[in-house]
Amino acid sequence: MTGTPRPAAAAAPVLLIPGPWAEDALCAQTDPDLWFPEIGGHREAATARRICRACPVRAECLDYALAGADTWNGFTTGIWGGTSPAERKQIRRARKAAAA
Ligand code: SF4
Repeated sequence: MTGTPRPAAAAAPVLLIPGPWAEDALCAQTDPDLWFPEIGGHREAATARRICRACPVRAECLDYALAGADTWNGFTTGIWGGTSPAERKQIRRARKAAAA
């Protein structure tokens, strides 16, 4: 089909696709629920963060999260690149301030 894009298509959410780096993600080799712990799931979060520290694609993962992959319906969730949502909020603020 050619012509002007339909408004509904323009308003569709963008699904971010990770790069080939994701093939080396350590979290893909274990229980993914560790990276999305329930409220109060400190033990699971600590385990996820420990695994992240050894992950060879930690930097790529963090960039991917900061690009928006960690946010769904306005809520930022999960452990990405070894960081919590609160830590990524701080990183976003710092980057925004540095860019201003
Ligand atoms: S750094 Fe990212 S890709 Fe690596 S284990 Fe942690 S969440 Fe998974």
